[in-house]
Amino acid sequence: MPDYRAIFEAVESTVIRVGSDNLPTEEIRKNLDEYKSFEGKKLSDADYYWVFVYVTFYSGFRAATVTARLPVIRKYFADFHLASSYGPQDIDRILHDPEMIKNRRKIQACVENAQTFKEIVSQHGSFQGYIDSFAPKASSTNLMRLKRELQHRFVGLGRVTTFHVLTDIGMPVLKPDRVMCRVFKRFGLVADEKDIEGVVKQGGKFAEHTGHPIRYIDIVFVAFGQVRSTEFGLDRGICLEKNPRCSSCGAKEFCTYDGPAC
Ligand code: SF4
Repeated sequence: MPDYRAIFEAVESTVIRVGSDNLPTEEIRKNLDEYKSFEGKKLSDADYYWVFVYVTFYSGFRAATVTARLPVIRKYFADFHLASSYGPQDIDRILHDPEMIKNRRKIQACVENAQTFKEIVSQHGSFQGYIDSFAPKASSTNLMRLKRELQHRFVGLGRVTTFHVLTDIGMPVLKPDRVMCRVFKRFGLVADEKDIEGVVKQGGKFAEHTGHPIRYIDIVFVAFGQVRSTEFGLDRGICLEKNPRCSSCGAKEFCTYDGPAC
């Protein structure tokens, strides 16, 4: 069995050590620690809807592009009551905003999802009430039932993006995105980068063996593998897709990658 605790600690300390070239260690620690309390946070209906909105936009786009456009996306999609009332002319108006991401399908999905959202809130009293009706934290079967339901009811949510929603609404599951899949494959935790369910399962093992919330496990691996994480002082990631910075990596002893740079 992999030594989950040792792998995680090696990755975490690498992130902090490399990031401290640009940001004081205490600040990195503070920014990381914020992710430890994420799962207990209460979300309002508006918070829940916003997760669906930004996940829809992040899917398939460069993260930096979407992050830069979040203020304009929020301008139109902060309120699901308003968004649910948008008609074709409103969609055209939003699409023609020079700051907006030019993707009719995503804008349309956010409008349709606002309508679904409104129905659910009126049926269950709140979106939280709807989520609780699945008792998703009681078992992984319940959690997967919620996942299937969200994927079925909301437009634009795929196999991976539904996990993204679940992570960001505080469910005990990580996002099996490209970064996570690549890093877990390099550590030999999954045989195939496309094994989404395998990556999710391995994420759960890290949480179990370290005692950390899954959201914290998620952000540490994301910071380790993604291109840039300025909040942790990383102007460049470490376990990058091309040219990973293996000479700076403290987790090398656990790595099975034998490509260039290693
Ligand atoms: S590929 Fe390089 S940076 Fe990534 S885990 Fe392996 S040794 Fe570390």
